[in-house]
Formats: sequence, C-alpha cells, structure tokens
Amino acid sequence: MLYFSTRATATAGHSAPAGRRFCDILLEGLAPDGGLYLPETYPQIDGATLNRWRGLAYADLAYEIVSLYVDDIPADDLRALCRKTYTEAVFGTPQITPLTRLDDGLYLLGLSNGPTLAFKDMAMQLLGNLFEYHLARQGEELNIFGATSGDTGSAAEYAMRGKKGVRVFMTSPQGRMSPFQQAQMFSLMDDNIINIAVKGVFDDCQDLVKSVSGDLDFKRRYRIGTVNSINWARLMAQVVYYFAGYLQASTDNSQRVSFCVPSGNFGNVCAGHVARMMGLPIDKLVVATNENDVLDEFFRTGIYRVRGTADTHETSSPSMDISKASNFERFVFDLLGRDGARTKALFGDAIASAGRFDLGADPAFPRAAAHFGFSSGKSTHAQRLATIRDCAARYGVVIDTHTADGLKVAQEQRVAGVPMLVLETALPIKFAATIVEALGREPERPARFTGIEALPKRVLTMDADVAAIKALIARTCDA
Ligand SMILES: *Cc1c(COP(=O)(O)O)cnc(C)c1O
Repeated sequence: MLYFSTRATATAGHSAPAGRRFCDILLEGLAPDGGLYLPETYPQIDGATLNRWRGLAYADLAYEIVSLYVDDIPADDLRALCRKTYTEAVFGTPQITPLTRLDDGLYLLGLSNGPTLAFKDMAMQLLGNLFEYHLARQGEELNIFGATSGDTGSAAEYAMRGKKGVRVFMTSPQGRMSPFQQAQMFSLMDDNIINIAVKGVFDDCQDLVKSVSGDLDFKRRYRIGTVNSINWARLMAQVVYYFAGYLQASTDNSQRVSFCVPSGNFGNVCAGHVARMMGLPIDKLVVATNENDVLDEFFRTGIYRVRGTADTHETSSPSMDISKASNFERFVFDLLGRDGARTKALFGDAIASAGRFDLGADPAFPRAAAHFGFSSGKSTHAQRLATIRDCAARYGVVIDTHTADGLKVAQEQRVAGVPMLVLETALPIKFAATIVEALGREPERPARFTGIEALPKRVLTMDADVAAIKALIARTCDA
C-alpha cells in the first residue's frame, strides 16, 4: 500500500512525487507539499470477509483492518502490537468499544473507557506502541512537542509514558484546563513525560509549537515530531471501531446502520468515511458540531469558511471548539474525484488567501450527501444540557457534553428501520462542571481516578518564550 498527498499532482516537467509506505509517514504530520496523506485506494471488504470478522475479538479485528494498510511491518509483529494495545486491562471491557442500547434503534458506542476517558485513546494507544516498535527498529529517538487544551495532550502522554525512544514535551495554558484534566497530566511521574504550563492561552502554546517546528535545524537536530490528528495512523486506528460498532449492531450484512459523530477537526468522522469507502454498510454519517459550526455550514451550503480566533466560541464542549477542521481536506479530495490540483487550489490557495471556498454550485457538492452519505446538525449549550437531562431521565445514562451534542443531532436525524449509533467521545467526569449544571449532581468517577486531584504534580511553569523552551528541550536531550 502506498500513500500520496491530497495535493500531489504532476506539473510541467515533473511527475507526481512517488508514493510512500506506511512506516515512512508514521512519524510525519503534513506531507511536504502541505497536503495530507491518504492511501492510493481503499481496500474493499466483501460480505464473506465481514462475516468472517463477526466473531473476532477487537484486537484481532484491528489487526485484520490495519494489515490492509500496513505492509512494511511483519504480520506477526503487527498482530502482537494490536493485541498488546487493545486489552481489557487498558480499555475496561472485553468488547473494548461496548454498544449500549438507549432505545429502539438508538445506541451509544462507548469509545471512552481507555486511560484518559476520551475516544482519542483508541488511536493514541496504538500509536504509542507503533512508535516504540518503529523507533527501536530504526535505532532512532523522537521528541514529541505538542500543545493541548485538554484531551489530546493527556491521551498522548498516557500512550507514550514509559515507552523507549520517545519523550513528550507537552505545553498547556496555565490554569485553563479543568482540575481533573490537570491532575491527569501533571500526576504522571514518568521521566519521558515533561509537562510545561505556559503563562498564556492555548494559542500561545500552539505558536510555540509552530516556531519550534519551523526551525528546521533545531527540528532535525532534536528529532522533533508531533502526534496531531492529521497523522494517518491515528485515522487508520479509528476505522476499526466503525467496523466493531457495525458488527455489534447488526446480525447480517444486508443491514445498514448510521453513525452520528461529535466533530471538531473531522478526524473521527473521517475514519467513518474511510470505513464506508471500504464497503462497510453505513447508511448516513452524521456530522454533529457545537456552536462552532464550520462543518455544519459546509454540509448545508457547500461553503467552507474558516473562522478566526475571535469568532471561535468557547463552549461547554471544548474539544470541538475549532475554527478550521484539519482533516477535512481528506474528504474534499475524495469528493472532487481525488483531484490533487483542485484540492491544492482550494486548501493551499483559496483558504490561505481568502479563508473560504464555495462548492455550493459545483456538481460534486450534492454527492457529499447522495453518494458519500453525509449530513449534519449542530447544538447549543442549552440543547446539550437538555439532552443530558433527558438522557439521564429517560434511559438512566449520564453522557458528557460532546456526546450530548451527538445525541441531540442523532435524535433529529434518525429514520425508522436504520439503527443510529452515537459515538460517545468522552466520559462525563472530564466535564463535571457542566454535568452539575445539568443534573445538579457530580457525575460518576471511575474508581481508578479517586482523589487524583490530590496527587503530587510535576509541571514546569514557563513564559511563552521560544528561546527558553528550546533551551529546555536541548538541555533535556543533551543530558
Ligand atoms: C477530539 C474530540 C472531539 C472531536 O473529534 P475530531 O476528531 O476532532 O472531530 C469530540 N469529542 C471529544 C471529547 C474529543 O476529545
């Protein structure tokens, strides 16, 4: 399997860049031309194969799917990595992603029982094991330098803690994460995890990452990498739970199901798109946004309009407060018939210069719904609170604010005869203040998190000063 950038084109006198293999892109973010990597084709899954997969444990299902995309890791090693990753000890249940019935034809797919209680563990845990394996094989080391407002940083740290060859430097805005999120990250005592509380806001942290990554000499010398959501391996790992959800909700392959996905950077639902392209019988992929409705606007109108920081609302579903959906280019590339030149014109040129493009009148746009199965909706804070209350009262299930966004939109878009699976993207304890606002009581806390706020913390506090951060990285690595 070869991977190509969404912006790869042949230009006068130059052929398109050669495809790359999985391990070549494993540690990379953007392709050199600014595009995102996608496989040259989507492997097709026939009914016989799907039937064979019905009885598999999650780890073995993961191996079957991942092995279609990875041909430069020996099969036995890849299977061992999947089995080491998806265990009941790490993910809390034997099913790994258990399906909970709420009502006739309405389900929750539980993706948040991993170490940090958000769905990002599903992919990040595999990434940690793949990184460790690959770095050991190459005799290399990697320093992950990132910025987080909460979920991504903790998922990355819990995936990389104790791993050989990997160190994590994670910046976060001082005092801005919830007490639970701070405790999760700062109580880690592993030597390869370095938490940096930056005196500033999330944008300051992101600017630090951009400055450090932009210094190519420094980046090369200290082997700086990232684990952001545009990484193909993360997307690939997320494809697995769409299959696992389908197989739990159906008894034979003539049945179709729909998924409703709380969305920010379009990573999660893009994995659903890949699963559907592989032939999984998915009816609709419903994109649910909060007040930051960049994606909902596109699926309603064909207009994709990036927002500035000032127009990005702080909401009660903070992990979806995005102004620019970093994985969206992958879907648009497919929508346009995999036309790299047009994708480059939209994302490399129109977005860079005008911050928007409009496909409303393009003959391809109606295919987003008709051919690719997409629809969308959104929620407000008040609607999420009402949904949390209603779900607790009616079904006895407490959901978090992101999942509530998904359930609200799912209820609007369900159709009789097609099961609707809402992806549960975090557990309510991560966003306790809003649950108290909705229900007047604290959400349940998994036993292993009892009293974590009182644990000793290890965190460096620093100014948003690039030189000082670089000096810290250099000192740590050269020691
Ligand atoms: C990251 C995140 C999302 C958004 O997922 P995308 O892949 O960015 O669309 C939704 N909910 C929670 C809890 C998250 O952590």
